[in-house]
Amino acid sequence: MSAQLTENSMIECQRHGLRPPAVICQHLERGRDLGFFQPDPDPDDPQSFIQHAWCGHCDEVLEAEGDWTDRAQAFAAPYCVCEGCLDDIRKRNLRK
Ligand SMILES: [Zn+2]
Ligand SMILES: [Zn+2]
Repeated sequence: MSAQLTENSMIECQRHGLRPPAVICQHLERGRDLGFFQPDPDPDDPQSFIQHAWCGHCDEVLEAEGDWTDRAQAFAAPYCVCEGCLDDIRKRNLRK
């Protein structure tokens, strides 16, 4: 799961202002209790400075595919939100 972002990328959020971006799957933003998954920290990943997150549906596809294949990417249809939004989304979707 990746996007064309650099370490200095910022996005302007209507709610949170100028913030660093985070990449999430298409289901999380409007979802609730979907589960909240993030990659293990990988210092070799050139995109590791950006937070990535996906939901339980995407995690099932990811498990079946074994990696972020084209099929898994197409299912997740990842896009950017700001880190403030990511916090809200985490609270809403993290299963207790
Ligand atoms: Zn998802
Ligand atoms: Zn935001």
